[in-house]
Amino acid sequence: MEPLTRLPDGTIKQVNPFTGTKVWTLPGRGARPFGVARPDPAPLDPGQHDRHCAFCWGRMRDTTPEIARVVRDGSSWREVRGLLAEQLDDTVPELRLFPNLFEILTYDYWHLAHGYEPTPESLAHRTAYLSTPAGRAHVTALARIRMRARGASGADADRLPAEDLERESLGLFAGNHQVIVSRRHFVDGATDDSQNAAAGTLTPEEHWQYTRFTIRAVHGLYRDNPHAQYVSAFQNWLRPAGASFEHLHKQLIAIDEPGVDLERESERVRAEPDLFARWGPEYAEAQGLVVARTATAMACAGIGHQYPSLVVYTANTSRRPWELSDEEVRDFSDLLHACHAATGSDVPTNEEWHHGPPALGLPVPLRAVIKWRVSTLGGFEGGTKIYVNTIDPWGVREHTVTRLHALAAQGLVSERVEVA
Ligand SMILES: [Zn+2]
Repeated sequence: MEPLTRLPDGTIKQVNPFTGTKVWTLPGRGARPFGVARPDPAPLDPGQHDRHCAFCWGRMRDTTPEIARVVRDGSSWREVRGLLAEQLDDTVPELRLFPNLFEILTYDYWHLAHGYEPTPESLAHRTAYLSTPAGRAHVTALARIRMRARGASGADADRLPAEDLERESLGLFAGNHQVIVSRRHFVDGATDDSQNAAAGTLTPEEHWQYTRFTIRAVHGLYRDNPHAQYVSAFQNWLRPAGASFEHLHKQLIAIDEPGVDLERESERVRAEPDLFARWGPEYAEAQGLVVARTATAMACAGIGHQYPSLVVYTANTSRRPWELSDEEVRDFSDLLHACHAATGSDVPTNEEWHHGPPALGLPVPLRAVIKWRVSTLGGFEGGTKIYVNTIDPWGVREHTVTRLHALAAQGLVSERVEVA
């Protein structure tokens, strides 16, 4: 089926060429402004610096024990793994990776359904972490929070029994739902609470490190959990897009199924091995939907997504994300960064990554969809599985390209990005 059809009255019918998702854009419904109105920004309290939310660096013990962090020394970036509670403030991380305190699929789920066991690295980290007073206090406090949330008895015992600590701490160190947090809650020099540090406010280099760290963490989940069939990687920005904290972060969740999208895509790519090139970049080009390019990646307006969207495709379909070269990852990251910058910090977005998992012997490239959460789904969508969009792909493209030209003129996007 043709992905884009224009009807006589101006209605655009879209069919996602990879998943079959149907979307209609109806004329006259697109004139609403987007972005969240923040009528009364409050001035920032300097006393709250670095303590605005549980992801802020001043509250590192509000999160689970850190798996890894990225530290910057001038122009070089290095990863540090397995710190103890007493060492958390010895360096200033640019990025932190830790298990989600309340995971979607728990340690018990993986252990009981698949016989999953923590890796020796994770077990050693747990032993070392619990061997210090600060580490023990940190993990005990988290164990109590988890037990309380489940309604488990004994959560408020004066001394938490050893077996409770043992049980809770296993999942706290071997979680298959992880979070990556970027350093800033607000942009440097922010004066009020509307100036959140969105992905597009990072420098292109910072965003590249964020992307690389994410790819390494996705790879790590596959490596450490042989039962993971897919690792979902995504970024919810602002509360209307599902973010619990308005502090830039990504989430990675290992699941034991490929997921509905990948199942549909696999079926299609089996029949048509050049599916992604043909119906991604080539079709976007033919339809005039290209937003920007780098040497090995392309950004274009998306077709057939529940919300108006931008898609960044990497051209290399034969490699998994962690097999891409540094240059290819940079090309991908720079475009993703540019798309976020053009979208703007005040627009709620979901960034969803798609890739081929290790066991899939099919040419599925890494790509990311940025969805603008500017409309609310309702009963029509629920009842028909046809999504109504307010902005058609050409409208998305025009808005983005206009903003990108202005950002490029100010030097705010990577020089590697060529705006269409
Ligand atoms: Zn924060």
